[in-house]
Amino acid sequence: MSARILVVDDIETNRRLLEARLTAEYFDVLMAPDGPTCLDLARSEKPDVILLDIMMPGMDGFETCRRLKSDPESRHIPVVMVTALDERTDRIRGLEAGADEFLTKPVDDVALFARVRSLLRLTSVMDELRQRESNGVEMLPYEPANGDGRVVVAAADQAAAHRIARALPASLDAHGYGDPRIAISQARHADLVIVDLSSPRFDGLRLCARIRSDVETRQVPLLGVVDEMDKRTMVRALDLGVNDVISRPLDPGELSARSATQLKRKRYADALRDRLDESLEMSVRDALTGLFNRRYTVSRLRQALDGLRTNHEPVTTALIDIDHFKRINDTWGHNAGDQVLKEICARLSEQLRAIDIAGRYGGEEFLVVFSNTTARDACDAMERARLAVCATPVTLRETGDIINVTMSVGVAEAFLEDSVEALIERADTALYEAKRSGRNRVIEAKRKAA
Ligand SMILES: [Mg+2]
Repeated sequence: MSARILVVDDIETNRRLLEARLTAEYFDVLMAPDGPTCLDLARSEKPDVILLDIMMPGMDGFETCRRLKSDPESRHIPVVMVTALDERTDRIRGLEAGADEFLTKPVDDVALFARVRSLLRLTSVMDELRQRESNGVEMLPYEPANGDGRVVVAAADQAAAHRIARALPASLDAHGYGDPRIAISQARHADLVIVDLSSPRFDGLRLCARIRSDVETRQVPLLGVVDEMDKRTMVRALDLGVNDVISRPLDPGELSARSATQLKRKRYADALRDRLDESLEMSVRDALTGLFNRRYTVSRLRQALDGLRTNHEPVTTALIDIDHFKRINDTWGHNAGDQVLKEICARLSEQLRAIDIAGRYGGEEFLVVFSNTTARDACDAMERARLAVCATPVTLRETGDIINVTMSVGVAEAFLEDSVEALIERADTALYEAKRSGRNRVIEAKRKAA
């Protein structure tokens, strides 16, 4: 199902321009010429994201945003403010009004789609939570939280991390780390993690991917620090599941406003989650690897195939098998086997986008669902994952033993009329072919059924 975007701008040309670009990306677009119409449509149409112009006659963007965020019917809808100038004071006023994101006019396509995708992911998580909560429980207020919260800052070295931590308000309990391993272990107890993505001496994106793929840190909000001009890193960060980015040179006011937004969201999500039956989460997850379980993954594949039939968006699936896994279990025991599975899943997750669904399909078999992706792109992703898996052996925690691990992958793109079973079977045939021809490789299924 395509997402609905509400575009609010007083100038018709601007609305039409955004409409054309969003429609080309298969978004469903609604439009409003002023604040009051925006408030009405937000209530009646429930869009997934609102793109809101700041400068409008009558009710301006700040006031419109403030009203959206104070109405229980619309406060959960992410708002992207569109500013004519890259004015930091405007950004801070916007964040104080409750805006979730900013874009600068003229709106750049790459930045626009990355922001919208990242907000949609947030919306779907929140929707899922609210859905589960809706069984007779009253909606929680989206209240601004009190200032305190534990913040972990990761940067190339201790001094750089401290500089960022010191720019945060004193009410936050902020700590800087120059060692990514320590940063990850601290992230487990954090309310917010800030990662410097602007240093060539430090692979911040990799750290972000790790944090997103670890079961214990998957939910923690991530704020990336990027160079103002480095759009590529910004887009990659958002695609990896980083919640927000802030550009250098760092403005302490903007940093504290963006941090406050993330902390507020985290509290809201935590409070919702606390009320929920934990078993619901467990019912879609595989306990060992943190990936989705088989039932959930297959149901998402079924949904993706529906999408193929309605929107003609390509769907590709990959079936992965760890080579000679039985040998690992037999030689080092089941605990070692479990550790290898966890490590391989973490490496695999790092190579996937947040929208890809990866699940444990069997003992040492994994299924990945790539929505809106051709076999060629899925093969590239799987080839990167294969290299990431075989490049570094797994070191066993207890004995220090080193195990070389490889994996074989079968990739199949869906036909229009494919059933889930037929598609997985073609991926399985390709996987068998990968095994037969020597393992440690990615093989694409034949395009046409025989
Ligand atoms: Mg305007």
